[in-house]
Amino acid sequence: MKGVYHVTCHECTFEGLYERRGVAADERGEHERDEGHRVSLLEIERPEPTTGSGPQTV
Ligand SMILES: [Zn+2]
Repeated sequence: MKGVYHVTCHECTFEGLYERRGVAADERGEHERDEGHRVSLLEIERPEPTTGSGPQTV
């Protein structure tokens, strides 16, 4: 199972899933700076390995 990083803004609809922690942290910091919003970064586990070509947010 592979961990992913979930970035979620508490004050608007901004959110994203990232495989790299550095990228997730950058996106989080950028949004916080640009919007002045409170954004959380959570490491989560994928419920299941993806089997096909589903939509992927990077
Ligand atoms: Zn926001």
